[in-house]
Amino acid sequence: MEAPPPPSTNKLQQQEFTLASVTDLTSSSSPSPSSAVATFSCVNEVTELRFQESESAHGFTFDLSSTQLFKLGPLQFICVSENSDSVKQDSFSRGVVIKFSDEKESKFFSDSFEEWTKDAARKGSSLPNGTVSDGNSKFDNKIEAASAKMYFHYYGQLLHQQNMLQDYVRTGTYHAAVMENRSDFAGRVVVDVGAGSGILSMFAALAGAKHVYAVEASEMADYARKLIAGNPLLAERITVIKGKIEDIELPEKADVLISEPMGTLLVNERMLETYVIARDRFLSPNGKMFPTVGRIHMAPFSDEFLFVEMANKALFWQQQNYYGVDLTPLYASAHQGYFSQPVVDAFDPRLLVAPPMFHVIDFTQMKEEQFYEIDVPLKFTASVCGRVHGLACWFDVLFDGSTVQRWFTTAPGAPTTHWYQIRCVLTQPIHVMAGQELTGRLHLVAHSAQSYTINLTLSAKMWGPGANQGGILQSSSCKFDLKEPYYRMSQPQVYPVAQETPAQPQDIQIQSDDLEEIELLQQNANAQL
Ligand code: SAH
Repeated sequence: MEAPPPPSTNKLQQQEFTLASVTDLTSSSSPSPSSAVATFSCVNEVTELRFQESESAHGFTFDLSSTQLFKLGPLQFICVSENSDSVKQDSFSRGVVIKFSDEKESKFFSDSFEEWTKDAARKGSSLPNGTVSDGNSKFDNKIEAASAKMYFHYYGQLLHQQNMLQDYVRTGTYHAAVMENRSDFAGRVVVDVGAGSGILSMFAALAGAKHVYAVEASEMADYARKLIAGNPLLAERITVIKGKIEDIELPEKADVLISEPMGTLLVNERMLETYVIARDRFLSPNGKMFPTVGRIHMAPFSDEFLFVEMANKALFWQQQNYYGVDLTPLYASAHQGYFSQPVVDAFDPRLLVAPPMFHVIDFTQMKEEQFYEIDVPLKFTASVCGRVHGLACWFDVLFDGSTVQRWFTTAPGAPTTHWYQIRCVLTQPIHVMAGQELTGRLHLVAHSAQSYTINLTLSAKMWGPGANQGGILQSSSCKFDLKEPYYRMSQPQVYPVAQETPAQPQDIQIQSDDLEEIELLQQNANAQL
């Protein structure tokens, strides 16, 4: 449960100032100065400043959460407010010049302005259906401010949202999952958890949602408002709320949550925690989650090219005469540094040396704290003989709709997505024979920079006739930081079929449901062409 916001410290409910004149800068008629009264007040939790001309009924109100005061002279100010109307496509600022006849009154006004605006900030945002509470934020308590700042700065940029929108496998699958399950959306209240550009909110509205709350913490919320406002038929059923899921309030419970919270290895970015927090805070009992379940798939792989490429990077530090300086003292650290980076690229599934296994994460059941540490015992049976260089991982998610169950996969061999796949490369490869058992552990520990430390151990067991008399033959362990991946997509990928690769296509049995998903996705891709 969220702590309730602390009571307001402002005891005044209203405060009045007499002005020598007020001139509306943004009026369409020629502005004429007239004497007026300025009143600070708090109405329904909204802190306002109202200017009322003495000689007329004419007045204007500024929302203090978006108003600034500039001093033009000892007796004169300009007061500017941003129009934050989310529905109108164009929003304009409005401004007035105000004059005082007395310097004391002028000073008192500017001090009061500061106090009242502070109070407005404390009370929360000016958003119509969501307020930002300033208490103990669940998000801020576990995530470093510097990490969050960079994270939301990244998502605040259109180019990164475009990158996700242009991942047609991703966006197309979401679209299909929503449209095929219209009955789950029609007439329902939906919350879009981390709405970004607002695309999923608009899909939900297209599917007939009664109302969608598009919650987005980054500056992208302003762009989402603009984009949604430009789709007027949908806009009337969508409210954009700028703030963190952990901090905002909503006026009603949701029937459906929709979100795209997946990171590399499914859990990177730690946004799945936000997704389950949204479930606990906003979803009605028996409400639906799109997606519903996620799975991390894992298999040992063999890739001599990759291993040599990584080892070679550190060779720079083996120079003993670099402009007369011996670099070798840092060789071991550099080598270890390169091998602590998980490799992100699309690889050929023929590199897998054993059928994959998977670990299920049920978004409808998982508690937030269960994401802090994820422990996966590993067990594989090698299909071929070769050198295992590490563990390859990918994920899929299920949209468990009432009409259609649709999987979205990032598996090797399936159409590539912007997540690609991820490989943890061991510094010490392991030799395996076909039929030999590989055991180990994948241990993920969340850290405050919105990612995980990965501890991986792989061990080859005795195999063949004497197996039951022996234990582990070889073991290799490495630590990786999921926050620091090595993006290898630009590298040429040469995996000639004729080469003596340890794994041949017929040897690898990707689980049948994986294949079904791949086929389904390919059918969809074809259908969309
Ligand atoms: N739903 C969009 C964007 C997905 S990217 C789409 O599918 O295209 C995830 C988005 O969630 C980012 O824009 C990010 O800023 C937002 N986000 C991440 N954590 C959040 C949180 N705790 N509260 C609100 N928004 C969050």
